[in-house]
Amino acid sequence: MNNGNAVNNNSKKIIIAKEIVKYFGHNLVLDKVSLEVNRGEVVVIIGPSGSGKSTFLRCLNHLERINSGYIEIDGFVIEDKGLHEKHKKHSSKEIARFCSQIGMVFQRFNLFPHMTALENVIVGPVVVNKMKKEEAVELGLELLEKVGLKDKANSYPSQLSGGQQQRVAIARALAMKPKVMLFDEPTSALDPELVGEVLNVMKELAREGMTMLVVTHEMGFAREVADRVVFMDKGKIVEEGLPEEIFTNPKQERTKQFLQKIL
Ligand code: ADP
Ligand code: MG
Repeated sequence: MNNGNAVNNNSKKIIIAKEIVKYFGHNLVLDKVSLEVNRGEVVVIIGPSGSGKSTFLRCLNHLERINSGYIEIDGFVIEDKGLHEKHKKHSSKEIARFCSQIGMVFQRFNLFPHMTALENVIVGPVVVNKMKKEEAVELGLELLEKVGLKDKANSYPSQLSGGQQQRVAIARALAMKPKVMLFDEPTSALDPELVGEVLNVMKELAREGMTMLVVTHEMGFAREVADRVVFMDKGKIVEEGLPEEIFTNPKQERTKQFLQKIL
């Protein structure tokens, strides 16, 4: 696989975000957010609407530029504005190539409507990684099987349920051999009866040791799967801890109020 200019990195921390500041116009959306994630760790981010959760994930894979702070993933510095600035600067092409190995699954299934499930899964490996078509098809079918959809390989997104589309979206992200997976409310747009099948695929990934950062309101998933829960409000990380601690004994008043509303 192509590693771009990534350095070999065996350090325990795979995501390092330091003091991320992000404005939209005059609106301060991320106010010095710092978070470190270990290899194989599952971190769930919770918090009210508008607290900056999506923006934070989007900064991590360079879909948004930050105003200041530092982002490093698996030893590769994606952004560095005003913190270290002593390492090599990467070109935007190198950054784009690196970020193709950061998997992202959004709330809205964003599959290409004119492509089958299989074509959606293999387009990245074929176009970005120049993988041979046959090899990509083999990989694609393997991944569709993994998410329980091998029999839907030739179906178009419009012929699939929301839960199935979201599972294809996960298979598509996995096809790029991601170093980490970012999930932004992957089940929020689903009918309740379809939530479980997507969460089950995510649980399996977690069991296999994938590093995952998951924004979700599924507290059952957080309790069962998360190694750590982070509560964000108004652009700041207010509190973080073990799921058990956060859910049963939150220390901050704002965390308590939020949990009372949703539990
Ligand atoms: P969350 O995911 O926690 O609901 P978001 O990260 O989506 O929060 O949004 C945080 C704040 O940033 C909100 O006030 C939102 O209106 C604003 N915001 C998000 N994206 C944009 C954008 N592209 N342009 C301007 N403001 C934005
Ligand atoms: Mg959001």
